[in-house]
Amino acid sequence: LRKQIIRAEKMEVVSHLAASISHEVRNPLTAARGFMQLLEQSHLPPEKRKQYIQIAIEELDRAESIITDYLTFAKPAPEYVEKLNVKTEIERVIDLLRPLANMNSVDIQASLIPFHVKGEREKFQQCLLNIMKNSIEAMQNGGTLDIYVSIEHEQILIRVSDTGIGMTKEQIDRLGEPYFTTKGTKGTGLGMMVVYRIVESMDGTIHITSEVNKGTTVCIYFPLAQSRQKQTASDQENALVI
Ligand code: ADP
Ligand code: MG
Repeated sequence: LRKQIIRAEKMEVVSHLAASISHEVRNPLTAARGFMQLLEQSHLPPEKRKQYIQIAIEELDRAESIITDYLTFAKPAPEYVEKLNVKTEIERVIDLLRPLANMNSVDIQASLIPFHVKGEREKFQQCLLNIMKNSIEAMQNGGTLDIYVSIEHEQILIRVSDTGIGMTKEQIDRLGEPYFTTKGTKGTGLGMMVVYRIVESMDGTIHITSEVNKGTTVCIYFPLAQSRQKQTASDQENALVI
């Protein structure tokens, strides 16, 4: 029974996420539509016209960012919990972020080991994406994104470090609070909220340290998935540097 209750709670986390997406996306779409309607008026001074178009575009960009923070990996089929190879999943996310990293002159270093965690693939990837994307966005003038996997205290550690702008103590405390962003209209303030929810749903924990103008380190810990072949530190031999 206990297991069933836990499962039900997780389902709730998932459906809450789904419910928030349609809510979050609808607001900017409605706003964009409103400004398009305003554009229909004749006798609109050119500068007003320009301003309305600009706002409509910003709102559409915002809808796009929200979808990126929630649904980058979403597929039509329902998801299920499976054993996920952290190395494979991290590599997938790195591939996706490489263009953004190149644009910011960010060098990606990865030391990955094929340990397994239990979770839903899309959500796990979304969680990694949101963390790594923040790291790259924190390094507008270049830097290094370092991703490292190991076992600590019988848990899998995934550590994402950047050499970016860092955060103050107050900013760290507000992480995960909906709409908290320092990126102006370019930010949604939803990425970390999604991260916290997903980590929680996978029985994981998250630990963040940061120093202003030095960089940020995000550590996420997950229980090891039971596997027939015992996962040991000797898997380190499979470590790969990309
Ligand atoms: P968004 O990225 O849309 O702003 P997030 O929820 O992903 O929203 O992040 C919230 C805020 O947390 C960011 O605006 C930024 O101020 C801060 N933040 C998150 N990750 C980092 C990081 N690696 N380095 C510096 N600041 C970060
Ligand atoms: Mg973000």
